[in-house]
Amino acid sequence: MLYFPVFLDLRNAPVLIVGGGAPAARKAKLLREAGATVAVVEHDAFEPEQLRGVRIVIAAADRDVNARVAAAARVAHVPVNVVDDAALSTFIVPAIVDRSPLVVAISSGGAAPMLATRLRARIEAMLDESWGRLAGLAERWRAQIRAVLPNFAARRKLYDWLLDGPVATAVRAGRESEADQLMAAQLSRPSAAVSGKVTLVGAGPGDPGLLTLQALRALQQADVILTERLVSSDILAMARREAQVIEVGKAPGGHGGRQGRINRLVVVHARRGRSVVRLKGGDPFIFGRGGEELQYLRLHGVAYEVVPGITAAIACAAYAGIPLTHREHAQGLQFVTAHCRDSLDRLDWHGLARSGQTLAFYMGVAMLDALRDRLTAAGLSPVTPAALVENGTHPRQRVVVTTREALPEAARGQGIAAPAMLFVGEVARLAAELGWFGAGPVQAGEGPLALAAKAPVYGSA
Ligand code: SAH
Repeated sequence: MLYFPVFLDLRNAPVLIVGGGAPAARKAKLLREAGATVAVVEHDAFEPEQLRGVRIVIAAADRDVNARVAAAARVAHVPVNVVDDAALSTFIVPAIVDRSPLVVAISSGGAAPMLATRLRARIEAMLDESWGRLAGLAERWRAQIRAVLPNFAARRKLYDWLLDGPVATAVRAGRESEADQLMAAQLSRPSAAVSGKVTLVGAGPGDPGLLTLQALRALQQADVILTERLVSSDILAMARREAQVIEVGKAPGGHGGRQGRINRLVVVHARRGRSVVRLKGGDPFIFGRGGEELQYLRLHGVAYEVVPGITAAIACAAYAGIPLTHREHAQGLQFVTAHCRDSLDRLDWHGLARSGQTLAFYMGVAMLDALRDRLTAAGLSPVTPAALVENGTHPRQRVVVTTREALPEAARGQGIAAPAMLFVGEVARLAAELGWFGAGPVQAGEGPLALAAKAPVYGSA
């Protein structure tokens, strides 16, 4: 180890910065945040006497001045850092991630600053803003925890619970007083089993790159993951290795006495004090029964958080080159489920057939004939463009562009199967022009030629 890491208490300590540029200003800001009394002298104004009584000095001037500062500091036994010059320095300043009171400092000992920067970015992503508040809470309760739980192993268990369980959930949700109540309750009966918590996580449509940072963090701290068929194995591969993965997926068309079983399973694991992730394809609140699951958790007093995911309509449209709204073609957007005849009966077809909007149908592959017929009956033009996106965002994504009229035949002809999104509206034709991912779009049915001929050209010729 080339350098010995320390954290300096500089509150009210005089520190000196030599130099006038941006690096000097950055250091001054940071040092002031740490409570130091900062004096800044310009390049040519440096005199060794200025080091008297100074706790540390930072040289951010030109080479000659930096060398003079470094030499004078050595004589005066004042620790000195010369910006970007480890050889002249007696200490170096690490890259930091600041979640005060929690601070992570990283150094490559001057060997590879880029590496330290990269690592910093990763850690930055890992620690959301709530970590600082959580550390603050732990600090507030520290003495009491120690008093109630003199045994180290018991204390450790409590801290695990504090960091992974409902207390952290409450802090992240901005409910500090609830977090304090939970702490108080737990410490008043320290031998009681700790309660876990559930994070309802949207996994997005398949491409792991579309996970949110929050989703990734939840996966990496999970003890148990209850997942469904729609979630790809690439995403599960990003979960914490020790996590127990349970597939509770519903197959398409499957109805759920299963749902009750899933609800109970989630609660059972949470009550064992586990950190449970309930992972769902897309977004949990869009045709994902997320609401029902939360109502069940609420009823049973289990703490929860929700991490939104990119829903299939948004993702499939993006990966197929279909802008869901467009100033010329679509001023509105509807997310519609076409799950079964029942759900079709409940839709306002005249509203759906109105022009100037985009319809995004979920779970519609098996219902295409019925969809076409109802849209026809409601008066939607037969040549309205329609696009099917199968396995959107997966490398095997397929896109079929057709018309409302030719929809079922086009889908059968191409063998389109679930999971697939159906888009109906003028924007669907743009897939032919703007598609960029996977195999190019196939145009099918009677309409496509007409579509191609009518496809507008955007931008300058
Ligand atoms: N909660 C999910 C939707 C669940 S309903 C979400 O927000 O995306 C399941 C339907 O979503 C499927 O029948 C299909 O219509 C659509 N879907 C999900 N993933 C998809 C994908 N990768 N490609 C195309 N459609 C998808």
